[in-house]
Amino acid sequence: MNDKVPTLREISCADDYDPNSMPVDKARDVISRFLSPVSTTERVHVRAALGRILAEDVISPLNVPAHDNSAMDGYAVRFTDLKTDGEVTLKIAGTSFAGAPYQGAMQSNEAVRIMTGGVVPQGADTIVMQEHVKTKDSLVTIGSGHRKNQHLRRAGEDLAVGQVALKRGLPLRPAEIGMISSIGIAEISVYRRLRVAFFSTGDELVSIGSIPQEGQIFDSNRYTIHGMLTRLGCEVLDMGVVRDDPALLEAAFKQAAANADVVITSGGVSVGEADFVKELLNKLGEVLFWKIAMKPGRPLAYGRIGSAHFFGLPGNPVSVMVTFYQFVRDALLKLAGQDPVPPLPTFKVPCTSTLKKAPGRTEFQRGILTRDANSNWSVRVTGEQGSGILRSMSEANCFIILPTDQGNVTAGTMVDVQVMEGSV
Ligand code: AMP
Ligand code: MG
Repeated sequence: MNDKVPTLREISCADDYDPNSMPVDKARDVISRFLSPVSTTERVHVRAALGRILAEDVISPLNVPAHDNSAMDGYAVRFTDLKTDGEVTLKIAGTSFAGAPYQGAMQSNEAVRIMTGGVVPQGADTIVMQEHVKTKDSLVTIGSGHRKNQHLRRAGEDLAVGQVALKRGLPLRPAEIGMISSIGIAEISVYRRLRVAFFSTGDELVSIGSIPQEGQIFDSNRYTIHGMLTRLGCEVLDMGVVRDDPALLEAAFKQAAANADVVITSGGVSVGEADFVKELLNKLGEVLFWKIAMKPGRPLAYGRIGSAHFFGLPGNPVSVMVTFYQFVRDALLKLAGQDPVPPLPTFKVPCTSTLKKAPGRTEFQRGILTRDANSNWSVRVTGEQGSGILRSMSEANCFIILPTDQGNVTAGTMVDVQVMEGSV
């Protein structure tokens, strides 16, 4: 088998390669083939590990639970002491509470009062719920109809000694933090954070805090990119606004690539602007310029500048966010060491709006998922869908994904949605 990764140049020479109409899936696929994850690791305390990516398998050093224990409040008994028809009265020999086990072995015709989590006394094999017994002084009377081993949690049934509790490449959520703690491990090995440098390009842009002159606008992309990178746990290097000037851009690209694993820019890759940026980037590295068959977010550049990965996002604020969600997110997670990076779930719901859509491109319309009085979910589109209308992203809680061949959508049609929250 030939596993050799082709060069970007080889990809761009393939027969079916059309940079002017690049399908979304194909662009994702090309990008994914060039991603080489970070390998440096560091040790962190579990409290500081939330959101980090595990760099080693975590092997359980013990059984969880450590002992056979009770899943109910009740009485630990020997099953052979119970009757299949009629009642039996046993002597209550003692107690086994969580953290305070019964000492010694239970004899026949004895029962031990046991609470949830209490260690099952030696000799006992069955738990009878307290609701199913009658007690008088130190005697307990139990009827028939019980099963041997009922209400027992077995030692090691959750995790056995030596078992892989968590696999390398897993992002750590509160559940994993809890699992690591449950086996008594305080420090774990995680991949170092991915370092991402980013800047905005455009003569019209000013940063917040400055006063825009006539024809100038506030830079918003850098702030949304900062937010999205922070959500993904990256270390960020904000390089500000860079004018559309070849010398300034060259210096910025070089500095960014020298200091980060990934360089992200916005603006400057659309027709008209792309030419000199293209020339510049092909001098500094190897970069492909695509018109993706999607809306919004048509122009996208991807490649390498030195050893850094490069994403040249479009300038329009919605396009920036959509291309980040649809291409950059998965790539950053993979580069950061997450393995595997499963596709974000999509699911079908009825759309209550009429949607305008021309066949030919995949659309990522911004939608609002809501639940009606009967607990049924449906989606409607946020108002205007222009790629400059950032409010559409703010109002939305999902993307409505309309496939390439889809035309207009009439109200009531089932559509694919992808929830935004939690994905970035
Ligand atoms: P461009 O791709 O550079 O031609 O930009 C496309 C559109 O997005 C133009 O209207 C720009 O003014 C706008 N734009 C570019 N960069 C930014 C930015 N950082 N913040 C807000 N709008 C931007
Ligand atoms: Mg521009």
